[in-house]
Amino acid sequence: MKNLLKKLIQAKTTSDMGELAAAEIISDELKQFGIDSQIDNWDKNRANITAQVKSSGRKGAILFACHLDVVPPGEASWQNPPFAAVESEGRIYGRGSADMKSGIAAIVTAIGEIAASGKKLQGDIILVAAAGEETDSCGTKRFVRDYARLPELAGVVLPEPTDFEIITAHRGMLWLKVETFGKAAHSSTPHLGVNAIASMKTVLNELENFKIRFEPHKLLGECSMSINTITGGQAMNVVPDKCEIGIDIRTVPGQIHQDIINDLQNIFAKLKQKNPQFKAEVSVIREVGALETDTQCDFVKDFCSVTGINKTCAVGFTTDGPHFASLGAPVVIFGPGKPHLAHKPDEYIDISDLKKAVEHYKNIILKFLT
Ligand SMILES: [Zn+2]
Repeated sequence: MKNLLKKLIQAKTTSDMGELAAAEIISDELKQFGIDSQIDNWDKNRANITAQVKSSGRKGAILFACHLDVVPPGEASWQNPPFAAVESEGRIYGRGSADMKSGIAAIVTAIGEIAASGKKLQGDIILVAAAGEETDSCGTKRFVRDYARLPELAGVVLPEPTDFEIITAHRGMLWLKVETFGKAAHSSTPHLGVNAIASMKTVLNELENFKIRFEPHKLLGECSMSINTITGGQAMNVVPDKCEIGIDIRTVPGQIHQDIINDLQNIFAKLKQKNPQFKAEVSVIREVGALETDTQCDFVKDFCSVTGINKTCAVGFTTDGPHFASLGAPVVIFGPGKPHLAHKPDEYIDISDLKKAVEHYKNIILKFLT
């Protein structure tokens, strides 16, 4: 299992490198346990891998949903090279060691050991490890779109790094691009152009007073908005014909993303009424809904009892969970690794947590599927 994790880290699955190498490593590992898998490969190096351990089908299946990709190592220097998977003092270091290649190594090992034990299952185990969770969820969207051919689900487990807390809720995410358009002109005669940066200034003024409508959520609190990028203009002597900003909005359950977009469009319409030369457009760069699993449902209650953890939590980060929730089954996020290490330099996993995760996943499989 340690070797599997090391190979997965060394596979360096940043979005530019793609996920195919990691998918092939998992496929080989499953084959050693006698489990067939399918790799869905597109755009040269992008890949999902799925596997299904069949059963009598008397019970609903459990889907274990992982992501193969990692974020880049970043500018800061690492004590150990980020893709070397160095083992030292009971830890394995590397990008993805916590988020979430330990979760993958643990669930693949758990599934393999259950299959090898010859235990008769009453519900199928389904595994997916998908591409692109850190960028655009392309792999998960592909998997969910084609899900119809797979069995009905009792529940979905995301082996993301939660340090063995059971997460049932997180905020949603809406990334918007707002562009203003003007007319280029030589800047010695600015009156012949329309300055897109000046138009953006009026948008920014409006956004300062813009209140997104929402009901505060008892676990997740408030919706937040932050303008995080701005670009515009091409040269010192040209009136800019385009300016754009990037806005990160984090939403709470109950909010409809389209309502926010409509409100922005109404602001732009108002600005255009005041100034007919004003032109702005808003588009969605990325969105994931909020996750809110009913903590009183049987799946969550049984999940708590089998893991011996009696509390469920909400977190600030987002996952692909809401995409899987659209399949109609309860979703929980539960796995090894400290969430605060994700996306940071010197990310690591305690090897003891890796072993603990295998035991938890085996118990979960036996509880729900035998
Ligand atoms: Zn993750």
